[in-house]
Amino acid sequence: MKAKNLGVNTICTHTGELKDEQYQGAVSPIYLSSSYAFMDVDVKRYPRYFNTPNQEGLSKKIAALEGGEDALIFGSGMAAVSTTLLAFLNAGDHVVLQKTLYGGTYNLVVEEFEKYNISYTFTDGLGADAFAKALQDNTKVIYIETPSNPLMTITDLHMVTQLAKSKGIVTMIDNTFASPINQQPLKFGVDIVIHSATKYMGGHSDICAGAVVASKAHIEQIWNLAKNLGGSLSDLTVWLLERSMKTMGIRVKKQNKNAMKLAKWLDALDGIDTVYYPGLTTHTDHLLAKAQMKGFGGMMSFELAANIDPEAFQKALRLIKPSMSLAGVESTMLNPAQTSHFLLGEEERKKQGISEGLIRFSVGIEQVKDLKQDIKQALSKVSSKAKKKKKSVLH
Ligand SMILES: *Cc1c(COP(=O)(O)O)cnc(C)c1O
Repeated sequence: MKAKNLGVNTICTHTGELKDEQYQGAVSPIYLSSSYAFMDVDVKRYPRYFNTPNQEGLSKKIAALEGGEDALIFGSGMAAVSTTLLAFLNAGDHVVLQKTLYGGTYNLVVEEFEKYNISYTFTDGLGADAFAKALQDNTKVIYIETPSNPLMTITDLHMVTQLAKSKGIVTMIDNTFASPINQQPLKFGVDIVIHSATKYMGGHSDICAGAVVASKAHIEQIWNLAKNLGGSLSDLTVWLLERSMKTMGIRVKKQNKNAMKLAKWLDALDGIDTVYYPGLTTHTDHLLAKAQMKGFGGMMSFELAANIDPEAFQKALRLIKPSMSLAGVESTMLNPAQTSHFLLGEEERKKQGISEGLIRFSVGIEQVKDLKQDIKQALSKVSSKAKKKKKSVLH
């Protein structure tokens, strides 16, 4: 059956699965060979050529989920990001990147691009003017990320692709936060979609992987560099990722639902100031998110009231784990000022609207009532402590 006629959960479960011809087992066999025959074969297979049976099978599933022609699977999200950017940028070229980007991508650009003589501009904002102003005659790539980390800003996909198409510029998006369940950028004319599969695709906080989806021609261009840089993923992990992705549709939809309920609840809760979630009608980019996303995702952030210490709050949580990374079935929190955005420094954080009391919340699949209960007990613990402290100062 052609994947384009199948529903998303069917694609997650079946597309690209390998038949077990020998024993008729229900799941894809794992082919661990790093040595394949070269005589009388159509394809010369080798793990670093990204073409083992398991790599090819999973590529089909990921391509189908994004509605793309072809895909490549990488050893990490950053292997996918770096290989893809460098495949389209030569010495003397220029790239325009959205101002709010995943920290690793930002570091790749500012730490590495100069030695390749690739110049870059980070946009001043996310509007059409900001992107247009950043363009130069030698701009070859526009790179965006939406929703962005940690304030869940939304970039207008149509705006970016229209701007790029008229000038023959290749557009790339990091679609990690949305996952293909909530956003399919190729349908909006974006050329290349990149994922950290470490996040929603893996979904259990136990895999590090990446993926790229695009047309056959673009994937070929990326592959030409990928085989030289060597960022392929081990077939054992490819298999584990295939297994994880069978439940991605139901996981992400449950996370969307949980996040929506929690965002509304947090918005009205004492001890919490602003909540940043694209599903809330009060979010600056709500209408844009509604126009280009099928679901608003499982990621949000919120500001703790000024009298609540972010570290004490996170330490008081019993169920929700304060931890790096995101998108697992378990709920996690972190404060960007101390983790992902620590190196920016307080001044730059302030410029980007990231306050010291901002908490990023990766909503899991647990029961909402249990998550609410956990947040409530943590808040009451730290607010009573805050009050006590004040009293002792007075005495
Ligand atoms: C985690 C992440 C990456 C990098 O992925 P790794 O698998 O850690 O290399 C890139 N972009 C976004 C949005 C991420 O969250």
